[in-house]
Amino acid sequence: MFEFLRRKRKTEKLAETLNSMAVQLQAQIRDLEAQRSQLEGILEGMTEGVLVEGPDGAILAINPAARNILGLEGEVPPGTRSGDLIRHPVLQEMIEQVRAGGRPRSRDLTLYSPSERHLRVRGDICRSPAGPAVLLVFHDITDLKRLENLRRDFVANVSHELKTPLTAIQGAVETLLGGALKDADRGKPFVESIAEESGRLRRLVDDLLTLAQVESKQEEIRPETIALQAFLEKEVARHQPAARSRAVSLNLEPVPPGLALPADREHLAQAVGNLLDNAIQYNRPGGRVTLKAFSDSGVCRIEVEDTGIGIPPEDLARIFERFYRVDKGRSRETGGTGLGLSIIKHIAEAHGGSVEVESRLGLGSRFTLMFPLA
Ligand code: ADP
Repeated sequence: MFEFLRRKRKTEKLAETLNSMAVQLQAQIRDLEAQRSQLEGILEGMTEGVLVEGPDGAILAINPAARNILGLEGEVPPGTRSGDLIRHPVLQEMIEQVRAGGRPRSRDLTLYSPSERHLRVRGDICRSPAGPAVLLVFHDITDLKRLENLRRDFVANVSHELKTPLTAIQGAVETLLGGALKDADRGKPFVESIAEESGRLRRLVDDLLTLAQVESKQEEIRPETIALQAFLEKEVARHQPAARSRAVSLNLEPVPPGLALPADREHLAQAVGNLLDNAIQYNRPGGRVTLKAFSDSGVCRIEVEDTGIGIPPEDLARIFERFYRVDKGRSRETGGTGLGLSIIKHIAEAHGGSVEVESRLGLGSRFTLMFPLA
């Protein structure tokens, strides 16, 4: 009888132990699942592409960013080898080097399909149940490369723009020193050329500084409420002498009473002023320039319309680029730097607005600045 009770108690104890083990196991499984889904969440949310290649070359894991970078649609079938997805010799070589050396490596490469992308790939060894695996992390550096190229082009353009007037000044100075200085009549055109070219240099440096200011977010926009009628009247008056000297009539249409705009006064004057400069410069004797301002669905529109030479359709998309000119000769002749419109674009964007152009070759152009009124 006692023996039976002892056995029963033993069995009960065993059952209790088993039960508590089952509870612990369940908790551990829940923890593991939570960890796994957390890891999956991190991988899914990463902007960097992640790919893990097992010891046999088969892909063990790949996140959506890597699929996107590599242009893969849908899931990657189990057992797919990374070499089948990325047939890039540099990448394959890097994977082999990581495997052989056991050390991290980093390489830059360009993929041309599905679209051109510049990648920085870092590879390192990581552990996997099947043995040492290779972890690849892809950083998409396409935007960085684009900015780098822009910067390089910009430096090359600036150097070229500075070189032209400097060469002319140097040539004039050498001629003067070579004897023309002694003869006032012979020397005068060279001195005039120095004055003109140094004026060009000055405008170029001024425009570059303005561009740097409006581009850098440090330069704070100091908005104030600007009553447009008075403001635009002043701009027209400021440009009247230039218009007159080119026999162009410049007029302001009456602004709707009370129309006012929250904007940085200096920047707005620069933007409107540059548009008026262009409308006068790229015009013909007897031509007209009309300035208008009105509000339309919460947007203030400032329009500068001219009856000038117009812009060929194929150039329209590019005229807001730095240093882009339709007719280099004419722009130089009129003292243009090729930076005016890019300055205008930055000013409009810094105010949350934009700038638009419509033009008909030989008939004229209309530039519109659009600023939110709220
Ligand atoms: P620029 O200093 O050469 O005037 P902008 O950036 O102000 O530089 O203008 C870029 C180019 O766009 C000019 O060189 C000119 O070819 C063209 N352009 C600008 N405004 C006008 C306009 N109102 N009419 C015709 N062409 C224009």
